[in-house]
Amino acid sequence: MLYKTQGLRMAVDIIKLTAEKAPNFIDITDRIAEIIKKSDITNGLAVVFSKHTTAAIKINENEPELIKDMEMFLARLSPPDADYHHNNFDVRTVNMEEDECPNGHAHCQHLLLSASETIPVMDGKLQLGVWQRVFFVELDRPRERQVLIQVMGE
Ligand code: ZN
Repeated sequence: MLYKTQGLRMAVDIIKLTAEKAPNFIDITDRIAEIIKKSDITNGLAVVFSKHTTAAIKINENEPELIKDMEMFLARLSPPDADYHHNNFDVRTVNMEEDECPNGHAHCQHLLLSASETIPVMDGKLQLGVWQRVFFVELDRPRERQVLIQVMGE
């Protein structure tokens, strides 16, 4: 999609993905770069936004040993097997789905991360540092997820 506004253009695309496990750091940098290329916007901003409360967007280094550390860090701060009020389905009445899963740990881990990252785009390229990559971070369980990419600029 391409919108024409007053001198400012905007392109929107959605990345759909399903993690293999949780937590799972999935590098989506190349897919975002492809969307920017398609948008034909050369200078502006890219907003990468997770439409979920238990899946985050975060910039970090894609180094497999570090990813293990980051997964352990999240599990230490908010272990899946700890007690969470959100997981007490005998008491809870709000936002209950038919396939509701106990995922209090994933919400708490998400507090430390974020739903989005904003990345400058110049000369048609994401202006990331040498070791910076954009990750979709699944915190809950494998399920279909959507990441919205909005590119604004000229
Ligand atoms: Zn939940």
